Amino acid sequence: MTTFSDLGLTPNLLKALDRLGFDKPTPIQAQAIPQVLAGRDLMGLAQTGTGKTAAFGLPLLNRILDIGHPPAPRTVRALILAPTRELVAQIADHLMLFTKGTPVKVQKVIGGASLHKQAEALARGADVLVATPGRLIDLLERRALTLDATGYLVLDEADQMLDMGFIHLLRQIARYLPHKRQTLMFSATMPKLIDEIAETYLRDPVKVAVNPPGKTADRIDQAVHFVNQGDKAKLLEDYLLKHPGEAALVFNRTKHGAEKLMKLLVSWGFSAGSIHGNKSQNNRERTLAAFRAGELDVLVATDVAARGIDIPLVRHVYNYDLPNVPDNYVHRIGRTARAGASGKAVAFCAPAEQDELKAIEKVTGQPLPVIGGTPYDGPVAKPAHAPRRPGQQKPQGARKARPQGDRPQGGKPQGDRPQGGKPQGAKPQGKPGQRGDGKPQGQRPAQPKVAASGNRPPRRQPR
Ligand code: AMP
Repeated sequence: MTTFSDLGLTPNLLKALDRLGFDKPTPIQAQAIPQVLAGRDLMGLAQTGTGKTAAFGLPLLNRILDIGHPPAPRTVRALILAPTRELVAQIADHLMLFTKGTPVKVQKVIGGASLHKQAEALARGADVLVATPGRLIDLLERRALTLDATGYLVLDEADQMLDMGFIHLLRQIARYLPHKRQTLMFSATMPKLIDEIAETYLRDPVKVAVNPPGKTADRIDQAVHFVNQGDKAKLLEDYLLKHPGEAALVFNRTKHGAEKLMKLLVSWGFSAGSIHGNKSQNNRERTLAAFRAGELDVLVATDVAARGIDIPLVRHVYNYDLPNVPDNYVHRIGRTARAGASGKAVAFCAPAEQDELKAIEKVTGQPLPVIGGTPYDGPVAKPAHAPRRPGQQKPQGARKARPQGDRPQGGKPQGDRPQGGKPQGAKPQGKPGQRGDGKPQGQRPAQPKVAASGNRPPRRQPR
């Protein structure tokens, strides 16, 4: 069995791994670390949760520790680019844990935080800079740093960066980088454009893959529940009440929809928060920290939280709206069943979302088992949690008004200064005039009573 010391890492890092309880390398670490230490470029096909942060972080830090003197002012030795602020923060946190007690300086720059403070910190130089592309460009244009001495470049979640329209920013950043450098690129999927990018950015890369693209984690128990758009909130409530106190991540396609749903859940007594592109960075970080710490049971999020985010507590992922980019389904459900735990993922499929469901099943390579509701064009499923039909009696204690579905608003990229508009594969959502288009169906809209994100009312008791 391979150990971390077999891989050639320095005693400083081995001590840190021991402290963190990393006993043995994960497959991607065992494959990638020796290659990166040997100076090779690398294309890693791996989803988050496979340990890829350490797979690129440890060998880079190892090489930087070997240098033995601090970086010059305003220079950066290794640049790591990631699509979302949350992912940048998470990568920087991990690297800081690995380098605790060493002189290695890890900095992060993200949108939504003080540009001035970031420029000040960079004036002293950084061994490793973790950044979202937009903020990095701002700082480069202000000459707050130079990438002339950057010998290492990591593109993490490259496929998401492309989906979010960052391709132009990446090209711009590449112009600031020296030609002679080591480049590592990680992607969870391998669309054709990633192949092309790899050709441009990498030189004779070693390829490592730990999960074929589109394969969802085996430990995730996946299912689809057919439900009209207007009944989704009630259905979500039913699921949440069945698993009291278990952390649930709910994905919504739009910022507005996520916020509205969060407020509704809070008004029903759930301890819920939301993160999406309309929230300030501070707010996003606070909410994520509260969810990580188990202070919130439910996090409603847009696809900003679909990738990279590592919250081992998440037991349930609800796809309240099906993603319009089918690969995002794989990323979303990958937020559960982490660190060896098992997890459940339920996709809520409204009549207008049948195409999205088909696209997801194509990507995952298998039909999702039906857990409730009636497939729109197939046999009647055994309804495990069938939504109430209009006119059907409400259970005792149910609230008066039922919530209305959120009408998808054509998913804008949620990240840091995206350019070039639409996510790949985006298309207009919803079919006006049909049931399931999110329009009220003869009921008054529910009025959420509590508005603030991250509010914690007393926990709702299961009925
Ligand atoms: P990542 O895919 O980099 O987001 O890592 C997923 C999770 O696995 C993180 O919580 C890491 O701290 C953890 N992890 C990574 N490598 C190891 C390892 N070799 N042993 C134990 N845990 C690990």
